[in-house]
Amino acid sequence: MRRVSNKVADENTTDRFGAAERDLIALGIATAAIILFVATGSAVLPGTLKAIFQGATGPDSVLVTTLLLNIALVIFGWRRYRQLTIEISERKRAEAHAKALSEVDPLTGCLNRRSMARAAEELRTEANAQGLAVAFAMIDLDNFKQINDMHGHGVGDAVLVALADRIRGQLPKQARLARLGGDEFAFVSPFDGTTPERIDDLVIRLYEHVTGQFELDGITIDATMSIGIATDHDEHGTNPLVADASELMHRADIAMYHAKKQGKNRFFWFEPTMENELRFRNELETGIRRGLHENEFVPYYEQQIDLDSGKLVGFEMLARWQSPQLGIVSPEIFIPIAEEMGLIGELSDKLMAQAFADASEWDDALTLSINISPVQLRDPWFAQKLLKLLVKQGLPPKRLEVEITESCLHSNIGMVRSMITSLRNQGVKISLDDFGTGYSSLEQLRTLPFDRLKIDRTFIGELGNPEGRSKIVDAIISLGRGLNMPITAEGIEDENILDALKTMGRLKGQGYLYGRPETAEQVRDRLRPLGLLVERRRPIQAEETTHIFPEPSLARMSANQ
Ligand code: C2E
Ligand code: MG
Ligand code: MG
Repeated sequence: MRRVSNKVADENTTDRFGAAERDLIALGIATAAIILFVATGSAVLPGTLKAIFQGATGPDSVLVTTLLLNIALVIFGWRRYRQLTIEISERKRAEAHAKALSEVDPLTGCLNRRSMARAAEELRTEANAQGLAVAFAMIDLDNFKQINDMHGHGVGDAVLVALADRIRGQLPKQARLARLGGDEFAFVSPFDGTTPERIDDLVIRLYEHVTGQFELDGITIDATMSIGIATDHDEHGTNPLVADASELMHRADIAMYHAKKQGKNRFFWFEPTMENELRFRNELETGIRRGLHENEFVPYYEQQIDLDSGKLVGFEMLARWQSPQLGIVSPEIFIPIAEEMGLIGELSDKLMAQAFADASEWDDALTLSINISPVQLRDPWFAQKLLKLLVKQGLPPKRLEVEITESCLHSNIGMVRSMITSLRNQGVKISLDDFGTGYSSLEQLRTLPFDRLKIDRTFIGELGNPEGRSKIVDAIISLGRGLNMPITAEGIEDENILDALKTMGRLKGQGYLYGRPETAEQVRDRLRPLGLLVERRRPIQAEETTHIFPEPSLARMSANQ
């Protein structure tokens, strides 16, 4: 729509410019007419006066006609000239308006990205000439997408306008504010380079006045933001650090990204090490993408033991990245990145397929536990996909235990509940991993149908003390007993911890005491002498899986529960 009106405006402007050019010709004609008028007038006037006062014959009729024509031409020329001056001033006004529009974000009235680069450079030159430095701050709203998704784009726009006004209200008058796009704002402000704490104060004021809860058309909005700041001079305010404003913006961007990584809703000044972090992160992202393609992600397995009998009861699958460049990489590094890159589903599908195939070779009594990321639980088809994969790889659902962490319970609890129920209906067990480290409420524990609690290893580690007791472990075990939920203790590193746990009831456990996580091949070697390895079942073909778990009924099940 805006593009169409711009086009119409362009055409109007072109018409006016054409008219103005024609009018320059009209002005020329009018000038020529005046000269002719003077010439013909001086010939006709004496003859006319003589004819009136002395009765002589009148002036030549051709000359009179020429004179009259000249008068008409002069009037025409003058009128066109007047129009021309009006049009030129209108054109200047339109040009100024168009320029202003091209520099300003139409929604918030802030500068836009293009004009901000120039404004920052101008401000920097001006400030430097006066012996001042500039600070460039990149501001990114942390949860704008949720606001948009939850309340619609109308509310999203209103939030952006309100936040822009609030930020503007806190900035010093020499500062320039821009909306760089989406939910990203930036400001540049001159300051005395030796007192960066002034900028700290300003940013803290922004946090106090801009973020937090506020009401908008009866809706409560909770906005937080991450800010990265860069300056063009060092802390002495003397040595220049950047060559131009675009480098300044780039540095502020890196610092803002760092603030996001550190947990959002905070600010950081740029430091050169952040650039290395970012480079490393980019390398990791490229490596993860390539590794996924090259099948470098493999399942490792950690033994799970019945603590009373010391019998092996199953394995927990733990992902590893066998990177040709970096060696074996921990899931704690690549899982969060894969989640952010939107690749966790694909990565997990591959790992699960491999793990189900491996576990189908183990004795039927052995269980397999897998870890599922909160991001995967947002996929409404997750339960269906997982069940299909189980069938395809020939692993009975009753042998599978899905571990979810407490962070899964923050997002859309209704959907998590329906997913858990769908899986349990098919025989899959669900356990709550790392229990005690998150914020799951007792109410959630009571109402969500978990089959097992896993006590986080940080608490189990406390049992290694001389008394061999931990109040938290005691409390979690009583809670499990009260809720009739079996418990697994993770992180059993030595005999002391094991002995302490054995006095606490019938538990399942895992930890380095029983061995480090192993490859599928090592697990096979472990199981073979124990007679716990069976012949690999024939994987079921895709078309057969549809027969066993017809999609519509599963879909209905996920939707209803
Ligand atoms: P987790 O599910 O709580 O797994 C237990 C972690 O504790 C594993 O670390 C394991 O190697 C480690 N561990 C086991 N026993 C001991 C012990 O005695 N002492 C100590 N200090 N550590 C022990 P790992 O393999 O690095 O995995 C870390 C986390 O990464 C896992 O914690 C899990 O949350 C996540 N993860 C692993 N694989 C996957 C996966 O395929 N998908 C998802 N979404 N997350 C995964
Ligand atoms: Mg786990
Ligand atoms: Mg755990």
